[in-house]
Amino acid sequence: MLIASLAGYTALDMSVQVAAARGSSRGWWIAASALAMGVGIWSMHFVAMLALNIGIPVVYNVPLLAVSIAIAVGASAITFTSAASTASTRGLAVASLAMGPAIAGMHYTGMAAMQMSARTVYDASLVALSVVIAVSASFGALVLARHFRGVPEHHSPLKIGASILMGAAVYGMHYTGMLAANFIPEAEPLRADEGVISTLGLGWAIVIGTILLIGLTLAAAIGNRLVGAAVSAANESDRQRIRMVDTLQQIGQSLTSELELDKIVQSVTDAGTELSGAEFGAFFYNVVNEVGEAYTLYSISGVPREAFSRFPMPRNTPIFAPTFYGEGTVRSDDITKDSRYGKMAPDHGMPEGHLPVRSYLAVPVISRTGSVLGGLFFGNASVGVFKEEHERLVEGIAGWAAVAMDNAQLFEAEKRARSEAERANGAKDDFLAVMSHELRTPLNAIIGYTNLLQTLPTSPEDTRQRLERVDLSARHLLHLIDELLTYSRLNVGEERLHIEDVDAALIASEVQALVEPLAIKKGLELACLLPDTPVLIRSDAHKIRQILLNLVSNGVKFSESGSVKMNVEQLGQELVVRVTDTGVGIAQEHHQKIYEPFWRAETGPTRVTGGTGLGLSVSRRLARMLGGDLNVASAPGSGSTFTLNLPMIAPGDVGGED
Ligand code: ADP
Repeated sequence: MLIASLAGYTALDMSVQVAAARGSSRGWWIAASALAMGVGIWSMHFVAMLALNIGIPVVYNVPLLAVSIAIAVGASAITFTSAASTASTRGLAVASLAMGPAIAGMHYTGMAAMQMSARTVYDASLVALSVVIAVSASFGALVLARHFRGVPEHHSPLKIGASILMGAAVYGMHYTGMLAANFIPEAEPLRADEGVISTLGLGWAIVIGTILLIGLTLAAAIGNRLVGAAVSAANESDRQRIRMVDTLQQIGQSLTSELELDKIVQSVTDAGTELSGAEFGAFFYNVVNEVGEAYTLYSISGVPREAFSRFPMPRNTPIFAPTFYGEGTVRSDDITKDSRYGKMAPDHGMPEGHLPVRSYLAVPVISRTGSVLGGLFFGNASVGVFKEEHERLVEGIAGWAAVAMDNAQLFEAEKRARSEAERANGAKDDFLAVMSHELRTPLNAIIGYTNLLQTLPTSPEDTRQRLERVDLSARHLLHLIDELLTYSRLNVGEERLHIEDVDAALIASEVQALVEPLAIKKGLELACLLPDTPVLIRSDAHKIRQILLNLVSNGVKFSESGSVKMNVEQLGQELVVRVTDTGVGIAQEHHQKIYEPFWRAETGPTRVTGGTGLGLSVSRRLARMLGGDLNVASAPGSGSTFTLNLPMIAPGDVGGED
């Protein structure tokens, strides 16, 4: 019984290795466990046979003994191969269907090897029972064995139970088999054939078999322990490494995607606490509010926030100073033994109510600009928790935290600046809209009264001439104010389209008439090339007039001699108006700049031509509003051509008179 249980233990112990082994080593483990189990069964059988005394001498047939060993070992091999490759109960049942007959096959072959002057007669039902016992006890043992696969604990009660059960499969089968056997004496004396072995020889064989078995048991146990320890150590460090990489990845992700300071500091604190093996971690960080006041906030990890409620902000005591002054990392196996610890009364430099810290790790978080953003603090109530690798990890995290906090602060500052600028811009637009509107009213009154005075028959000629000047200046002023008004209306999105049937040719001649006096004054030719028939389009007449007036006035304004020509034509589904002058021209690098509001080639008090720099900016925006565009072709000294393209039907036209 002892031998069978020992064999069971060895075999099960090795089956653990079989399950863990890969490749060719798996084959070796299967062979070894099959050998242990097979030899174990065999030894059990013949030790039991030594215990049997049937009163007549018995010898054993060696070839049959060899066959019995081969059966035991071979069937055990099949068992362990199938048990190792499955964990399902059905698979284990199949494996025990190999194990049970292996034991029985060995037993009955061993019985057949007996040579004596007696005949053996078997009771069939007991033989069947012996096989059932072998199968079911093997099944029970294999099911139990499944539980300790991969478990580093080697001598669990479960394992010992499984070994006893496996042993029981062997000796239970054996004694049931022996019960089934009846030895009937025969008159014939014992024939000592060739190739038999006496009981003494058998004894030796058993001793050798058992020694082999115990040797294998020991080897397996030692191997198991060594391999198991190595495997579990490797597993543990693998797990640790995986956890670390996971955490690092998480921080990386949250830091790169996060622009909110609160979330950054919390994830940094959590990550540092987890990676350093600290019981608790805290991040004290400096922030500057909108009014420019600096103050300290904190985030914590590992303890509920209430645990910190009585915790005052750490002061620059000798312990904290290196962190808050950004001097470097402080790592201590036991901070209570640190020389800096005892320096400050009343609490050794630690604030009142602080957590029970022995192991201590503190790292400053320093901005790109060199200023200290805050400090990361980690603690553990046990001594010697933080190692150099933790220090390096936390320093790495502090570096990322600094970058992320810098980014968050830049983002905040930029956001503030942008909304400030937007507000200022809005205020400017409102101001322009209100002011230009308010200026128009009195100006219209001035123009109205001037015209009235001009028409009075009593006005002397020189007064009339002066009134004409007043009128001209007032109209110029009105034009500027209109430009400003349009500009601010465009900016606040309040400029509306009034679409109607428009004769573009008519507008062009009106513009020509308006600018003519100026052109004549400067000695410039002002020509207008129109098609013979009206150019009817659906658009906004007022806006087209505004654009053309701008272009033609500019042509006149920026030309000292020569001509300004306006060419109106319909090209397919487009109205094209070209305004060509022989003026100063525009350098290539300014071809886009001229459309920027308030941009003028001439700047400063020495400029000769007047203007706001809004004309072209407003003109282009109006052209685009009408579904068209405004472009220039020009070179310094060779004049300019502005081309206005407009669709025959402006966008948003619903077809009705508006
Ligand atoms: P303003 O005429 O009030 O200065 P604009 O927006 O109409 O403002 O024009 C912007 C600038 O573009 C002008 O100051 C001038 O430098 C340049 N520019 C516009 N039209 C012409 C032109 N026909 N010839 C040369 N330069 C021009």
